[in-house]
Amino acid sequence: MEKIDLIIEAEFILPMAAEASVLKNHALAIHQGKIIAIEPYATLQKTYQAKEWVQRPHHILLPGFINAHTHIPMNLFRGLADDYPLMTWLHEHIWPAEKEHLNEDFIRDGSLLAIAEMIRGGTTCFNDHFFFHDTIAETTLSTGLRATVGLCVAEFPTAWAQDATDYLKKAETTLKQGSPSDLITYAMAPHSIYAVSEQTLQKCKSLARTFHTPIHIHVHETKVEVEESLAKTGKRPLRRLHELGLLDSHLIAVHMTQINEEDIALLKETQAHVVHSPQCNMKLASGICPVERLHRESINIAIGTDGVASNNDLNMIEEMRTAAFLAKVVSENAAAIPAHTVLRMGSYQGAKALGLEKKIGTLEIGKEADLISIDCDQIELLPLYHPHAQLIYAANRENVNDVWVQGKMLLKNRELTSLDEEKIKHIGRSWGEKIKK
Ligand SMILES: [Zn+2]
Repeated sequence: MEKIDLIIEAEFILPMAAEASVLKNHALAIHQGKIIAIEPYATLQKTYQAKEWVQRPHHILLPGFINAHTHIPMNLFRGLADDYPLMTWLHEHIWPAEKEHLNEDFIRDGSLLAIAEMIRGGTTCFNDHFFFHDTIAETTLSTGLRATVGLCVAEFPTAWAQDATDYLKKAETTLKQGSPSDLITYAMAPHSIYAVSEQTLQKCKSLARTFHTPIHIHVHETKVEVEESLAKTGKRPLRRLHELGLLDSHLIAVHMTQINEEDIALLKETQAHVVHSPQCNMKLASGICPVERLHRESINIAIGTDGVASNNDLNMIEEMRTAAFLAKVVSENAAAIPAHTVLRMGSYQGAKALGLEKKIGTLEIGKEADLISIDCDQIELLPLYHPHAQLIYAANRENVNDVWVQGKMLLKNRELTSLDEEKIKHIGRSWGEKIKK
């Protein structure tokens, strides 16, 4: 018998490969953080002797969710400014609040609050976009979660950097040092084409090319953004990014609520990725990304919650459900974006946007063991006919029972293993008191 680290058996396993398969009464064998076998558990029992055997008899096992767009330290601004349109929200509320409170403690504490929320909701990897990337990377690493940490670039001064040159210098220093762990990767993260000059965008591109990172940027979030760009340059932001040489399979375009035929052709031709954040787009009345149409054109779509100051949570199950419902009503087609399709957007397609699809995003032999279990032995989840649909249309994040990253358990029967829940709640409360003043 071969000795291995872990076997997890479950009633249903959803590998989340291209076809919507469901494995019944199977188990996963995991060794040194990787999936080494997926077989009926009677078979695995004969082959392997595992140090740990986890039985989940009424559970669905599937890849962890990949939240493809976050600003995690902003968890401390949850509910600070609601019911405003994007530009008012940014200029009159969020940017002034950031100016007042941003420092290393804020970043670390906000990140911890967000990471605890994400683990409890079944997210195993997130793609962040915020200042103080070194603190975000270090904090994430201390919790065992996986992330692509954005190296933020803007023109305006913050507590993190003085100007574009300073942001770029900090990004370059980090890229030269390299990642402290294979759980952390980096992306260049210029804010947007309206907050970053074309010259700075080109410098971001050159750093991204040199160090082989994606570029993570807000694009076509609102009608105003597109109109201002047209008035200033005669061109739409996506076209300008293309002319600057940024549009290719390493570009992660977040939002894309304003899309015409030219944009679709550009996205298709360049294989750029789109991150869909339906709840944030709906809450800020920014618009609707035509996901059903983009999906038909084979454009890669990932799902992101955005920061909680505009959502107001990091709930991937809810975000996927909203994406599916919105796609159906917009396309007047109940068959648009079925459960398996939207779950792929929240897992494999998120990994693809981050360039991590060979490592994570599906449950396959050789991939890293980033996975979650959903407890279906609940009144709200019975009876259970179709696991994919049950997850998207009936389950909630509270049904996430366990979370593993690289085979290491971060949530066990809903208990956080790498974080102290009481300490995290205290952080949330005490910052709330401070910011209210
Ligand atoms: Zn954002």
